[in-house]
Amino acid sequence: MTDTLTDAMLDDLRGRLGRAAAAAAAAGVDAILVSPSTDLRYLCGYHAKPLERLTCLVVPAASDPFLVAPFLEEPAALASPVGALGMDVLTWQETDNPYALVASRLGRVGCVAMDDHMWAEKVFAFAQEMPDVRQRAAADLLQELRIIKTQAEVDALAFAGRAIDSVHAAMAQWLRPGRTEAEVARDITDAIVAAGHAQMDFVIVASGPNGASPHHEASNRVINPGEPVVVDIGGTTPEGYASDCTRMYCIGEPPADFTEYYGALQAAQAAATAAVRPGVACEDIDAAAREVLTDAGFGQWFVHRVGHGIGLDTHEHPYMVSGNRRALLPGMAFSIEPGVYLPGRHGARIEDIVVCGEQGPIVLNNETRELVVL
Ligand code: ZN
Ligand code: ZN
Ligand code: ZN
Repeated sequence: MTDTLTDAMLDDLRGRLGRAAAAAAAAGVDAILVSPSTDLRYLCGYHAKPLERLTCLVVPAASDPFLVAPFLEEPAALASPVGALGMDVLTWQETDNPYALVASRLGRVGCVAMDDHMWAEKVFAFAQEMPDVRQRAAADLLQELRIIKTQAEVDALAFAGRAIDSVHAAMAQWLRPGRTEAEVARDITDAIVAAGHAQMDFVIVASGPNGASPHHEASNRVINPGEPVVVDIGGTTPEGYASDCTRMYCIGEPPADFTEYYGALQAAQAAATAAVRPGVACEDIDAAAREVLTDAGFGQWFVHRVGHGIGLDTHEHPYMVSGNRRALLPGMAFSIEPGVYLPGRHGARIEDIVVCGEQGPIVLNNETRELVVL
C-alpha cells in the first residue's frame, strides 16, 4: 500500500483522524480507542489482523493520535500509512502490559469510546486498567464519518462494482446442469479474485428450493434444468472496498410460477432505485420496493429489509429498513435488493449497489437484471 500512497490519500487520512478527534470532543469523549477493524483501516489506513496481542489506535480529543502495537507487528504498522503519517508508534514487548501503556500515555481521562468490534477481552482489560474511566461505544461517532463516502471512496466502490459485474457476465462458463452448487461456487470464488478483488467474501449459489432461503450459501445439491438459481456474490478489493451483487439465472426455461413474480421483483427493484435522492428517508426506499411487491400479491414473501450500507464493510450504516427515518445524503452508498422467497419452491433476488448522488441514484452494478437463461 505504501508504494501507491499519494499525498492526497495521506491528506484524506489526516482529515479523518481530525474529524474523529472533533467528534470525540463534541461528544464529551476524551479518546477513541480503535482495535484492528475496518474502523482502524478507515482512520489510518492500517489493515491489521485482529490478534490476541493488543494493537490499538488512540485518537485523543485534544492531542495527537498514536498507535500502540506489539513489537512483532511494528514492521507491518510502519509499512502501512501509519509510517508515512509520522504518527507515534509505541511498541510493547511480550511481558509488558499494553493496556497500562495506553493508560499511562493517555494520562487523566474521564471517558473513552471503543470501536464496535473490539474483542470483549480487550474491553474488559481496559476497564480493569482504568477502573474510574467510563467506557462507551464509538459506533455512532465513527459511523457518522463513514456513512458519507468521498468521491475517492465512490470510485473505489465503482471499481468493486465493475469487478463483480465481470464475474456475473461470465456465469455461463460455470453454471451448468449436472454440476453442484459447491462446484459452481468454487469456480466463482476463483473468478472473484481474478477479477481484481483481494479476496472473496461470500458466494451464494442457491438452486431451486434453496433459492427460497435468502442466506443459503452453496451445498452439494445438483443443479437441474428448469431451476431458477440465485447467485449473490461479493469480495473486497485491494483498497478494502466491498462488492455485493445478485443476479438471477435459470438453466433453460423457468417454471410458470416463477415468471409470475419475477417481473414484479424487477419493477420493485427499479422503483426503489428510482426513489433514491437526497432528503428521502431510508425507510421510504424499502417502502418503494415493498409497495410494488405487495400490490402484485407477493409482499408477504419479501422477508427482509431492502438494503444495507456498504463501504469498507459489506454491511454497514445506513440500513434501508422500515423505521429508519434518516434522510439520504449525497455520498451514502447502499444495496437495493428486494427478494421473493417461496418456501419449498424457489426464490429470487435482484441486487445492485447504489450511491445517492446530488440529482438521484448512481447505480454501480450494470449487468442485465433480466432473468439470464443459460
Ligand atoms: Zn444479506
Ligand atoms: Zn448480496
Ligand atoms: Zn447485499
